[in-house]
Amino acid sequence: MKQFSVASLHTRMRIFLWAALAALILFFAGYAPAADLSVSFIDVGQGDSIFVVSGNSTMLIDTGERVQARKVINFIERYGFSRIDILVGTHPHSDHIGGMADIINRFEIGKILMPRVQHNTRTFENALDAIIKNNLTVRSPAAGEIFKLGAATVTVVGPHKVIDNSLNNYSLVLRLTFDSYSFLFTGDAEHALEADILTSCVNISSTVLKVGHHGSRTSTGAAFLAAVSPEIAVIQVGQGNRYGHPNTVVLNRLKAAGVEIYRTDIHGTVVAVIFGGALSIATEKAAKGP
Ligand SMILES: [Zn+2]
Repeated sequence: MKQFSVASLHTRMRIFLWAALAALILFFAGYAPAADLSVSFIDVGQGDSIFVVSGNSTMLIDTGERVQARKVINFIERYGFSRIDILVGTHPHSDHIGGMADIINRFEIGKILMPRVQHNTRTFENALDAIIKNNLTVRSPAAGEIFKLGAATVTVVGPHKVIDNSLNNYSLVLRLTFDSYSFLFTGDAEHALEADILTSCVNISSTVLKVGHHGSRTSTGAAFLAAVSPEIAVIQVGQGNRYGHPNTVVLNRLKAAGVEIYRTDIHGTVVAVIFGGALSIATEKAAKGP
């Protein structure tokens, strides 16, 4: 994997800036960052894969397509981890669980969380085969379930019910809180699932929003964005993808709300680090253009 360059550093200044900066510089130099919490939005092209480290506990949310599995494995091993405590497959599309079999075969796995839905594809069957072969089981958490990841707390905020036939609307939506910061991981949740979550009145306000469905216009509705009210948005999306993601309407909605936008097609891997009470964002590549 490419070395992160210090020149591409983007930092959000809070308190204890230099401590956070030092942590990120160590990360660029190939050392695991001295972070209290890190959330890495790995550039897996068109797909999602998010690696969360909280103390010594780890969570991987989605794996990207199968062809990206080696990159995800390298990223995690570079961090020095051989175990994933919580492996989440938000929903059974290949751009989210394509690499799941390879990940399961490579790492020691704690628990696996996936929605209660089947998908008749080779990708899904490969994941199930790997789960069975490794004597693992899958749990489908209900909305409202809370679990700990080191000192962080993860809440399942949706879905509350089966919404429609769209697999995207089975996406497990998770909110992680740590210190005074929060992250909302939306999978490919579309407007109907966003409405389901809004109706539940659960707290989804978050510092960082993983934008739903790669920035598609099916997602990130105005009411949902207002409820999340993020400072930072991360869009996991492939360069030149055939879906036209991210959609201009969504980008404009985020910009109008004053949200700072990071995109894996432009910035490469995006890493959020919380260290000593400060949140910093580092990107693999500097953004081009204006
Ligand atoms: Zn997707």
